[in-house]
Amino acid sequence: MGQCESCGIPLDEKTTSKFDSRYCIYCQNQESGELASKEQVREGSIQALMRLQGKSREEAEKVADEMMPKLPRWQK
Ligand SMILES: [Zn+2]
Repeated sequence: MGQCESCGIPLDEKTTSKFDSRYCIYCQNQESGELASKEQVREGSIQALMRLQGKSREEAEKVADEMMPKLPRWQK
């Protein structure tokens, strides 16, 4: 099982985008195939970290900003 190259969540049969198997259904619109912007992905990650791991906004931003540059989509 891989992970989304845009936000890092684990990809399985439920979360894999139908347009591009490198990305998840949250990063790629499943009707238009449009990819979320970097800011949208960052904000989504922050919200998930706060909700799932009980982090403060500040902590969640720090984790997201460390994690995102490691993902293939954001590497140059
Ligand atoms: Zn994703």
